[in-house]
Amino acid sequence: MRIAGIVKESIVDGEGLRFVIFVQGCPHRCEGCHNKDTWCLDGGQIADVDSIVGQIKRLDTDVYSGITFSGGEPFLYAKELSTIAKEARALGLDVVTYTGYTYEQILADIQTEIGGAEKEIAEAIAETATESATEIATKRPTKRPKEANNNSHKLDLLKNTDTLIDGRFDNNLKDLSLAFKGSANQRTIDVKKSLSAGKVVEY
Ligand code: SF4
Repeated sequence: MRIAGIVKESIVDGEGLRFVIFVQGCPHRCEGCHNKDTWCLDGGQIADVDSIVGQIKRLDTDVYSGITFSGGEPFLYAKELSTIAKEARALGLDVVTYTGYTYEQILADIQTEIGGAEKEIAEAIAETATESATEIATKRPTKRPKEANNNSHKLDLLKNTDTLIDGRFDNNLKDLSLAFKGSANQRTIDVKKSLSAGKVVEY
């Protein structure tokens, strides 16, 4: 995977003290983005998952609340990040994932890949989406690169994320008073409750 960098101590990327991985590559191109250096898929540096997991295992879990995936677009690296998320959660750390996609778009991608085979996802889609998955897919604001074709792992990353902060940054809805997000359209989602309830449940 490619990363833009790692911040080992952050208090601005979710609740508590957090270890933050900024991935490299973002298809969303939001106007007003503060992380433009993360857009290029070939930028940043190659990072080894095992090395990152090793760093996380050395964190003092009495002091750290969790880890955060930011970017860039974390769902471009769903396979690698789900592996890291599982290791972090096994240590008792929580996982925050930022994404420029909406929760509904991610579910639609998952459904496309697995054909709705997993009951909880199928139910979540049925209850959450007001449009069909196909309609949602065709209305996406950004075209994703070929490298993003990792839908089969998106379910894994979603399931191993405690808090999802979703949606593109909207410069017109920019609000500096919001906690841990940049614009009012973005939601802070309790993923477990959302999957269980079949609808988006925000904190
Ligand atoms: S999703 Fe985030 S990193 Fe990507 S362009 Fe939008 S604000 Fe920038």
